[in-house]
Amino acid sequence: MTECRLCRGESMTEILNFESHPIAHHLMPDISKKEPSYPFSLFFCNSCGLIQIAQPIPAEIFYSNYHFFTSWKDQPQIPIIINEMESMLDSPRQKKILDVGCNDGVFLDALKKHGYDSILGIEPSRDVYNECVKKGLPCINEFFTKNSALNIVSEHGRFDVVAIRHVLEHIQDLGDFMEAISLVLAPNGVVIIEVPDFYYNLKSLDYTAWEEHVNYFTSETLSHLLSLSGIHTVKSESVLFSGSVMIFFGSKCSGLPEISPSSYMDKLAPLAMGYGAFWPKFRDRVSSHIAGLKGEGKNIAAYGAGARLSSFINFFGIGRYLSFVADDQVEKQGKFMPGSLLPIVPSDELEKSRINVCLLGVNSENEGKVMSRHKNFIQNGGVFYSVLPPSVMLLPVWAKAIGEYGGGEIQHPPSQPPNCRSPP
Ligand SMILES: [Zn+2]
Repeated sequence: MTECRLCRGESMTEILNFESHPIAHHLMPDISKKEPSYPFSLFFCNSCGLIQIAQPIPAEIFYSNYHFFTSWKDQPQIPIIINEMESMLDSPRQKKILDVGCNDGVFLDALKKHGYDSILGIEPSRDVYNECVKKGLPCINEFFTKNSALNIVSEHGRFDVVAIRHVLEHIQDLGDFMEAISLVLAPNGVVIIEVPDFYYNLKSLDYTAWEEHVNYFTSETLSHLLSLSGIHTVKSESVLFSGSVMIFFGSKCSGLPEISPSSYMDKLAPLAMGYGAFWPKFRDRVSSHIAGLKGEGKNIAAYGAGARLSSFINFFGIGRYLSFVADDQVEKQGKFMPGSLLPIVPSDELEKSRINVCLLGVNSENEGKVMSRHKNFIQNGGVFYSVLPPSVMLLPVWAKAIGEYGGGEIQHPPSQPPNCRSPP
């Protein structure tokens, strides 16, 4: 029996089954070895509404060595986060801050540059941890669990601020993780949580789920989870960063009512079910459109060898219509995409190989850079279409499908009045 990771409820409905695929970001150094495949499906909890991978791949397979450095991507939201955090604190620079899942230390480094001295990171992946330490940032190389939280508290005391950025969606044992947060957080401490907002996937037919992301939160399910841990949402922001992300600023205080799933389930459930039910039709429509372009004699390639493009190619089964995947990150060149085994090549190949249509698999915020780098490709008749919402350059078949799909609206729960004081 499968139980919900958030509420332990046993009534779960499978809304999407993508069948079996290799891990989306495990690029292949050569194609002689067979890649292991894993079944991939998403479930909806009928009690609390959390969309989740019910039987995830063990975390050790992903995180022993990560090869994914957050410093590879610009993070324009960091100054916004620091600004908002400071507005919630008295004498902010004297506060102790813990960055959970700090990766190679981008956020810690920004804090240090803003004059914060009492900072600490915890990061399970060895390679990114090493990078963090090389920058002179204090960091512990461990998974964040109740046990490690107890050790941190005995050595460093509790923290006034705990940042959890792009971590919660990866956590397989949510109960243990939230208990660990409660242990390290000082009374009235501030919590900063940044996670992808799955509401936008539900609305924009974005099916690029990623096996590393075992939890797919909307603001409703995230507020519910936080309220169970006594964390009250003070404010939230939405930003574009690899799709839409929500940044929650919460404060821990006792005596707040829990946010009940009954306040949102009647809207969230049909939206999630409709999204799942639309998938087979949408997959067929997009793959036939791409097959049609190939049938007209067009040379097609894709751009951006990341996990989202990898999932897109495999889930839609379109690898056979593509010549290659272009990517200008030298670490990726010469390798092969998992599943489709498409070669990863430098992007000047778009012109050299006379590509007519290039499917853009980069995040919307980076599309402009790619387009300006490839003005000649465009001037010579080459066309870019995005395959990752919320781009405004999506394949025309996408916009048509969204019009027909309609989705649905959910009502965001009213935020509770902020009656918690900031840490003294
Ligand atoms: Zn649940």
